[in-house]
Amino acid sequence: MTDSSETVVRIDGVTKEYGTLRAVDDVTIPITDGEFITILGPSGAGKTTLLHMIAGFQKPTSGEIYIDGRPVSDEPPYERDIGLVFQSHALFPHMTVKENIAFPLKMRREHTDDIDRKVEDVLELVRLPVDYADKPVDELSGGQQQRVAFARAIVYEPTLLLLDEPLSSLDKKLREEMRAELTRIHEETELTIVHVTHNQTEALSMADRIAVINGGGLEQLDSAQDIYASPNTPFVADFIGNTTLLSGSVAGVDGDVATVSVADGTVRVPAATVDGLSDVVVAIRAEQVALDADCDNTYPATVEQVSFEGDRTQYHVFVPAFGETVRLIDQSADARVVHDRGDSVTVGWNVGDGFVYPDEDDE
Ligand code: ADP
Ligand code: MG
Repeated sequence: MTDSSETVVRIDGVTKEYGTLRAVDDVTIPITDGEFITILGPSGAGKTTLLHMIAGFQKPTSGEIYIDGRPVSDEPPYERDIGLVFQSHALFPHMTVKENIAFPLKMRREHTDDIDRKVEDVLELVRLPVDYADKPVDELSGGQQQRVAFARAIVYEPTLLLLDEPLSSLDKKLREEMRAELTRIHEETELTIVHVTHNQTEALSMADRIAVINGGGLEQLDSAQDIYASPNTPFVADFIGNTTLLSGSVAGVDGDVATVSVADGTVRVPAATVDGLSDVVVAIRAEQVALDADCDNTYPATVEQVSFEGDRTQYHVFVPAFGETVRLIDQSADARVVHDRGDSVTVGWNVGDGFVYPDEDDE
């Protein structure tokens, strides 16, 4: 057994350039044995490129990837002992479930008896009935095919499992079911999993740690809870959660509280958060904004959009003082009392509620 805190994969200062485009920019991520890490970022952020470099389909322009301590840049994919599941699961459609799952074992020239046993075990792990073994995969539902794809990727007990948006072709209900299944399979196998997604909910609900990437660069690497509670950058605050960003300048400090001017309005923030700064971005989450309540920061606003969702109501409200739309989620006991478009309301939040960042755009 390996020490559970051992680094099994190290992405070390890796950059990938395509001509003048820097798809991955000096990324360092140590991945611990047995952890479920999610690489989260918008489309084009460089997620697939990073995964392809781990798998060996692409070579870093600079930097190195280590697997079990050995540099792998010159190792072909088949020597890396990695399981892969992509968005389109690329099963062999005319083969049976068993033939699909047995394929990587046959490539490794394993004994027929071992193959039979391993296929049976992995079918049980992914919760497919054993009598499905002889069905052609194209007779299975989307969710069942996804289970076969997972089974085929893990049947030979790889060092590492790479998942590139594996759930994105499934419908919402199935996606949620498979999320829970992946978490269970991870717990039962203790496999090291590197999972790529652009879906923040998927990342928050499954990962031990999340690496947020944007424009090829690593913005934050932390537990899901820490990423949500303390986003490092305005990008992370905006991408994870439902957030309004307000750009302003520090106008004054009075004791513990500083005043930030945002257009024609002011926002009170903790003085410690603006120490030494002049231009700042204040990020405020939708669930931190209260409707028609008395807060440290209170503004008249007009309802622009309403979405009643049963246990909560989401609003976009226009705040003239900022000339900006603020998002809010009303989860209060009377959230069923829904305002209409065009209604005048007040919105607000308390001094400690938002996040404050240096404004990198105005040097
Ligand atoms: P993601 O998976 O996060 O959506 P990708 O890693 O696929 O992002 O792409 C990152 C950037 O690199 C994009 O701008 C994409 O167009 C570019 N890119 C990806 N693969 C290639 C390639 N083979 N040749 C040129 N540019 C590429
Ligand atoms: Mg991709």
